[in-house]
Amino acid sequence: MKRRNFIKKTSVTGLGLVAVSSAFIGCNSDTKTSDKKGLSSTLNPIRPLVIATWKTDLAVETAAKVLEKGGSAIDAVEQGCRIEEANEEGQSVGKGGLPDRDGDVTLDACIMDEKGNYGAVLGVKNIKHVISVARKVMEDTPHVMLVGDGAEKFAVLKGFERENLLTEASKKAWEKWKEKSEYKPIINIENHDTIGMLAIDKNGHISGACTTSGLAYKMAGRVGDSPIIGGGLFVDNEIGGASATGLGEEVLKTVGSFLIVELMRQGKTPQEACEIAIGRIVNKPGKDFKNFQVGYIAVNKQGETGAYSIHEWFSYNIYKDEENKNIKSDYFNKA
Ligand code: ASP
Repeated sequence: MKRRNFIKKTSVTGLGLVAVSSAFIGCNSDTKTSDKKGLSSTLNPIRPLVIATWKTDLAVETAAKVLEKGGSAIDAVEQGCRIEEANEEGQSVGKGGLPDRDGDVTLDACIMDEKGNYGAVLGVKNIKHVISVARKVMEDTPHVMLVGDGAEKFAVLKGFERENLLTEASKKAWEKWKEKSEYKPIINIENHDTIGMLAIDKNGHISGACTTSGLAYKMAGRVGDSPIIGGGLFVDNEIGGASATGLGEEVLKTVGSFLIVELMRQGKTPQEACEIAIGRIVNKPGKDFKNFQVGYIAVNKQGETGAYSIHEWFSYNIYKDEENKNIKSDYFNKA
C-alpha cells in the first residue's frame, strides 16, 4: 500500500464514482426475508462483494476468497485487514506503522458484525493484529472498547504475541521528522492510509473492519476516528455500511460513517451519502480543507457502492463479479 509510489507510477482503472448497479448482485431489496437468526437477508443469492479504502489488492483478494468459499462477512473483513497489518512496508497500518511523536507505534482498530455487535481497541502497543484483538473484545468480553495497556494485556491473555512494531524504515522516518518536528496534516503524503473494509457475504450479511496506526507523529495518546463506532466505521445490516480514511478529527466531528449509513437509510445512494458527508466537512464556515484529506467508502444492502473524498488521489479496491479492481474515487476539490 505504498501510496506515494502508487500515485506516481500506477494508473488507476476507472474514473470517478462507482455506483454499481444493483443488478450485478442479482438481488432485489423488495425480496427481503430473515434467516434463522432473524437477520435481514435476501431471497436471491448474492455474489460476494468487498470494498476497501486505498490500493489494497491483496487484502481485498484475501477477503474475497473467504466469501467465495462461503465464509462470513465478519471473517472476510478480519482476514483482509490482517494482510495490511502484517505488511511491514505499509507505514500506516499494523507493523511498520509510523510512530507517534515519542517514537511509539500505537494501533487503533474496530470491527462490526451483521448483528450490530462492535469491538475496538485504542492505542495498543506491541501487538500487530489489533483487528483480531478488536474481534475478541467484541466476542469475548462484556465491553466494546479496550484502551492502551489494558488492551495489550487482554491481547496477551488471548494468546497474541508481543513484538516490536517499529521497523527500521519507520524509525528512520521518525528520526528525520524529529529534526524539524513539524506537525501538520498534509494531503496525500504517506502520513495516513487506514484500511477500512466492508463486505457482503453470500447470505447477504454485511460486516466491516477498520485498522490503522493513525496519523504519523501524532501526540502520544491521540486517537482518531478509525476505532470509534460511527466515526471510522459503521454497519447496519438492514441498510449498509461505511468507512473512512484521512484526518480522523474531521471525520469524528461529523460522525462520518454513521452519517452515511443514516443518509442511506433515508434513501440516498451510497455515492450521494458519501458526497453529503464530505460536504458536511468542507462546507463548515471558514473551514480550510486545503491541507487535509478525508475519503469515504460505502455500500448498501443492495450491493451498490460509493466513494468520495475531499481531494484527488483517494482510491479504493472493490471486488465484485469475481474481479478485484483499484478505482480512483471522485472528489470535491476540483478547483
Ligand atoms: N483516519 C486515521 C486517523 O485519523 C488516519 C488515516 O486514515 O490514515 O487516525
